[in-house]
Amino acid sequence: MKIRTDVAELLHQGHTNRAISRATGAAPKTVARYRRALGIPPTPLGHFTGSTPESRFAARTEALPGGHMRWTGAVTSRGTPTVKYGQRHFTAGRMAFVLRWGREPVGHVLPGCGMTGCVAPDHVEDQPMRDRLNKTFAAIFGEAS
Ligand SMILES: [Zn+2]
Repeated sequence: MKIRTDVAELLHQGHTNRAISRATGAAPKTVARYRRALGIPPTPLGHFTGSTPESRFAARTEALPGGHMRWTGAVTSRGTPTVKYGQRHFTAGRMAFVLRWGREPVGHVLPGCGMTGCVAPDHVEDQPMRDRLNKTFAAIFGEAS
């Protein structure tokens, strides 16, 4: 079976059959067949229904002990957690950052808590925040050697 690449891409991004059908014009039955062929599990109902950034984010995260959060939503082919809002795709870390700080992050958003892949809004940091922390450490403990 030949699988349309545009449909396959949306399937990998975690969209529902209905949403993909709407976006691509492919019949929902066809989308379902592709999904089975690609071995992608059905998207839980309501997975993409959150209307606010907060609810969209919350629906795709799992709280862990220590205030950490694990991403349970879609990931890109490179394994980066991703979420669509409006017409744009954001990394989960970026979205977490905006939710927490109310501004666009500068540079890469990375968890500052030491847990790989953590997307807890309270734990993510952008480059200026890391720089500031490094400077503070340097001022208190001296430059790292
Ligand atoms: Zn964390």
